[in-house]
Amino acid sequence: MKENQADQNVRRSSRLKQNSIQSYFKQEKAIPVVDKKKALKPLKEASISVNDLIKPENVVIKIKHEKPEHPKTTKATKPASFRWLRVNKWTKEAMALCPKPIMGTDDGPDDDCEVRKACMVECTDKSCTAGPSCGNRGLQRQEYAKYEIRSAGGKGDGFYAKEDIKAGELIIEYVGEVLTKDAAQDRLKHNTSRHVYGMGIGDGIVIDSAERGNDARFINHSCDPNAETGKWEVRGRPRVAVTARRLILAGEEVTFNYHFETEGERVKCMCGSKKCRGYL
Ligand SMILES: [Zn+2]
Ligand SMILES: [Zn+2]
Repeated sequence: MKENQADQNVRRSSRLKQNSIQSYFKQEKAIPVVDKKKALKPLKEASISVNDLIKPENVVIKIKHEKPEHPKTTKATKPASFRWLRVNKWTKEAMALCPKPIMGTDDGPDDDCEVRKACMVECTDKSCTAGPSCGNRGLQRQEYAKYEIRSAGGKGDGFYAKEDIKAGELIIEYVGEVLTKDAAQDRLKHNTSRHVYGMGIGDGIVIDSAERGNDARFINHSCDPNAETGKWEVRGRPRVAVTARRLILAGEEVTFNYHFETEGERVKCMCGSKKCRGYL
C-alpha cells in the first residue's frame, strides 16, 4: 500500500515538472503610483506571481478529504523536517538575481513615510527620520494580526483571524526560503512532502515555505478571498505581505487567491464561497 502511494507520488511529481511551469499566481493588486517629488517609480514587477510551485498533488490530497497532516496547532503539528523562520532565508544564487532597490537612500533621510508606503517600500533608519513613530515598518517589526492555525475541514488546516483586521492591514508576512526558480523546481523533483508551497515573486525568484517558513503557509485559497498578497521592498530586498482586502472579523478564515493555473489536470476548488469558480 505504502509502496503504491510512493509510486503515485513519483508519477505526480514528474507530471508536475511539466505542469508547474505554467502554474503561477498572477499579480493581484496594482501598485499605486504616487505623484510626488522624486518621481518614485512603482515597483516594476510588483506582481506576486504566486505559486509557480504549488504542487498539484497538495490540492488533490485536500480534495480527497484525507486526514490533514497538521490537525491542531502549528507548533505541535509541524512536520519533523520543518524549521520555522522569522525572516526569509536567501540562497546566494537567489541573491544574485535580486533586483536593485527601487528606492535608494542616497538622498538621506526624509519624512516621506507615506510616499514610500504607497510605493510598497518600507522605511529604514537610513531613509526615514521618524524612528519609533514611523508607521511604515510593519514587516520589519512583524506587526502581525492575531491569528490561530486550526482545521479548516476538508481543506486541511487553515489560518484564522483571532481579532478584527481592518482593510489594508498587514496580517502576516509570507516567509520561507528564497530560491531561484530552477532550484525550487529541482527541489520539487525530490521532495515527497505534500505541503509544498512556493510563491514566485518575479526575477526568477521563489519564496518556498516547504521546508522552512512561517504560518502564512497555512493560508488557503479562495475564489472570493478576504486577503491578498503584495510585494514589498524592505532594505533593498523583496518581501511578501499578506494584507486584508476588506474588514476581516475575528473567527474568519483568512484566504487569498492562488491564481493557480495549469495546463494539466484541472483542480477542483474547495473554497465554498458563493463566487467559487469550481476549479483553482
Ligand atoms: Zn518612515
Ligand atoms: Zn473556489
